[in-house]
Amino acid sequence: MYNHEHVAGINDELPDRIRRAQDGAADVGIDALLLSPGPDLRYLTGYQALPLERLTCLVMRAGADPVLVVPNLEKPAAMASPAGASGLEIVGWDETDDPYALVAGLIPDARAVALDNMMWAEKVLRLRDALPGPHQRLANEVISPLRMRKSPAEIEALRQAGAAIDRVHAQVPEWLRAGRTEREVGADIAEAIRTEGHETVDFVIVGSGPNGASPHHELSDRVIRPGDPVVVDIGGTTPAGYCSDCTRTYVVGEPSADFLASYEVLQRAQAAAVEHVRPGVTCESVDAAARDVIADGGFGDLFIHRTGHGIGLQTHEDPYIVEGNDTVLEPGMAFSIEPGIYHADRHGARIEDIVVCTDDDVEALNLRSHDLVVIPEK
Ligand code: ZN
Ligand code: ZN
Repeated sequence: MYNHEHVAGINDELPDRIRRAQDGAADVGIDALLLSPGPDLRYLTGYQALPLERLTCLVMRAGADPVLVVPNLEKPAAMASPAGASGLEIVGWDETDDPYALVAGLIPDARAVALDNMMWAEKVLRLRDALPGPHQRLANEVISPLRMRKSPAEIEALRQAGAAIDRVHAQVPEWLRAGRTEREVGADIAEAIRTEGHETVDFVIVGSGPNGASPHHELSDRVIRPGDPVVVDIGGTTPAGYCSDCTRTYVVGEPSADFLASYEVLQRAQAAAVEHVRPGVTCESVDAAARDVIADGGFGDLFIHRTGHGIGLQTHEDPYIVEGNDTVLEPGMAFSIEPGIYHADRHGARIEDIVVCTDDDVEALNLRSHDLVVIPEK
């Protein structure tokens, strides 16, 4: 099950992350980073703050220690988090204080500030009013390059998340059968996502028959029928905060010949993209490696989404494996490889693994077979 040593390993990295974020901001002329509750704040401080109407804001200034501004109501939680344990300065504000003025007072000379990409619009605008001078930019310009390159402790956390979701997929054939609804199967899967080592269930897609042709279909009351292909795409977040995301395609009973034909192409496409991953190649070339195989197989028009997305503290983050993204892969980058072929109104298929670019190759974090899982009718 979950290895808590890795949470500690990740917490040990927090001071270095803060230092690198400060350096990164200085490099691009940003005087202060202003981060609200969300993955960037968690990445830098370990504090999983509640997203509330009251302002919580990490103020990171050039050449000074960071300050975490929190409502006094939230101060005990902040103190109890790794942020408090690390000795980060935490400043509380009372119900009748103006926290925006408090933040502005910490950065009187700033000319450019970078705001959390996920900050609520009302907070963005109130900071604009409190800090009318500084140019507002986006913090992911600085944080995303850090988060994209995972440390060994982060890779280990993703490896554990991958193993946990693999254990869930191993049980899917027990639950998937003709006569049950997608929702019933999804409930069994959701329970297993938790019991196998996740803290939260982030999504459960059970796309049976024609529903499998809609890549982000979740669950419905459709009754699974004999011969249905079923796309099962599932993921959760572990206690360390790292996400899993894995898709396998199943068939209940006998698959049709045309389904088998497109699945065979899909399997080769997924393998070709994984094979292509190594340091120095671009994200878009990984996408092309999968897409070329599917196009050659005659299904190019039916592969209707990008090949993958980065993963870490969020299920979807940089780098995106898509045409037009010339980001060059480096060791430590983790992302999905998930081509799909979608026959509208009939069926769909997708194979998804999380992989990591290593020093000279690639490591898959989902290890179950890519073969179509044929579940005999009971
Ligand atoms: Zn997925
Ligand atoms: Zn995915």
